[in-house]
Amino acid sequence: AYVVTDACVDVQDRSCVEECPVDCIYEGDRMMYIHPDECVDCGRCEPVCPVTSIFHTDDLPPNLAGFAQINTEFFADL
Ligand code: SF4
Repeated sequence: AYVVTDACVDVQDRSCVEECPVDCIYEGDRMMYIHPDECVDCGRCEPVCPVTSIFHTDDLPPNLAGFAQINTEFFADL
């Protein structure tokens, strides 16, 4: 799945939401989150993010690796 990372915090541009064909990008208090089970890996959200906050979990930079868990945990708390 794809995940949203820290560049989204307090930006929440939401361009990704309009691109997502399965509406699996959700709004939190300070950033957006991608539902790991609903994401179909289409990749459309990644290039439209103006702050390059979206990565596939396989391509996460090491310093952002924790965001895979952060995206997953957001939905566990709902
Ligand atoms: Fe939605 Fe596709 Fe992005 Fe997954 S990769 S969050 S399905 S736009």
